[in-house]
Amino acid sequence: MNLQDYKNVWIFAQTQRGKLSPTVYELLTAGRQLADDLGEKLCAVLLGHQVKAFAQDLINHGADCVYVCDVPVLENYLDDVYARVLSDLVAQYKPNKFLIPATNMGRALSAKTAVFVGTGLTADATEVSIHKEDGQLYATRPTFGGNLMATITCAKTRPEMCSLRPMSYEKAPKQPGRIGEIIEVPVDTGKYTGSLAKFVQFIKSKGDGLDLSEAEIIVAGGRGVGNKEGFKLLEKLAARLGGAVGASRGPVDSGWIDYRYQIGLTGRTVKPKLYIACGISGQIQHMAGMSGANVIVAINKDPDTPMMKAAHFALEGDLYEVIPAMLEALH
Ligand SMILES: Cc1cc2nc3c(=O)[nH]c(=O)nc-3n(C[C@H](O)[C@H](O)[C@H](O)COP(=O)(O)OP(=O)(O)OC[C@H]3O[C@@H](n4cnc5c(N)ncnc54)[C@H](O)[C@@H]3O)c2cc1C
Repeated sequence: MNLQDYKNVWIFAQTQRGKLSPTVYELLTAGRQLADDLGEKLCAVLLGHQVKAFAQDLINHGADCVYVCDVPVLENYLDDVYARVLSDLVAQYKPNKFLIPATNMGRALSAKTAVFVGTGLTADATEVSIHKEDGQLYATRPTFGGNLMATITCAKTRPEMCSLRPMSYEKAPKQPGRIGEIIEVPVDTGKYTGSLAKFVQFIKSKGDGLDLSEAEIIVAGGRGVGNKEGFKLLEKLAARLGGAVGASRGPVDSGWIDYRYQIGLTGRTVKPKLYIACGISGQIQHMAGMSGANVIVAINKDPDTPMMKAAHFALEGDLYEVIPAMLEALH
């Protein structure tokens, strides 16, 4: 592998069911920074069916160039088909760095693509940068249960791949009228049939419809909530404020609330304007997922917990007294 042949920073512009994933705009921020530091182009890759319309939007948010593979065979996501198309694109265009969102789809896709390409992948990074001396990608991620941050490099192969956690970067601002190149790549669909997996049906999960990682207000409960019923009180407060409910790992492990509500190192990363932590002690693994909140309010009986110390507003008391009082005041 001649490393000098590899140029430009790529991001994977994930689409699903006719929508561009919001985390793509965060990748555009991170990718733009890398491309500028290297003096190279930022390119986005769009795979799917009837996705071409997103290309100009990606350019308006910072991409210099968009590769589009728009064919019916890519309408529904299948790991091996998408990974084979991506690895063929990599072989053809030789990108230098390649960022993929660490979504459920992106985690599977990045790993498979890296294997097909024969390169290294840093999974679930929270920060990326270019090393000034050698131009390598430095990808940083929490390790050892969040107690250490590890910076990982991939010295000998290209592209240096990385899956980047949603909410790790601000979304790129829109710059209407930005000019870029849209390259429609012909896809030999016959080549990508014969997948071991088959798409049967899409079933939307029965949720409350509110995406936690997009919520501007989150009322999160910890072990201090005490039981499953207690989350109803948090739901009331969240509904009153127009927010979403979240949780620490304690209640998830206890079966009081589903895992998809878990915030933290092994859950979701969130960046709301307001985070109300109810009965959460604030261990490092939880803080890893919410410390980017603009305003943190903590409700806890114990004033010495890390969450009470980190909070902008620390309310010492029993959450079963404080939350009803808040609801009353908001009435
Ligand atoms: C590898 C690894 C990954 C992990 N990933 C995650 C993760 O993604 N997310 C996560 O959250 N954790 C994670 N954890 C677990 C983490 O270390 C903590 O155990 C967990 O966050 C504790 O949850 P908690 O704060 O709800 O519970 P506790 O630490 O038990 O805190 C409960 C708090 O409630 C307060 N309280 C009790 N009753 C009341 C009341 N009535 N009113 C007000 N306050 C009250 C107490 O004073 C206490 O501060 C991980 C751990 C490991 C090792």
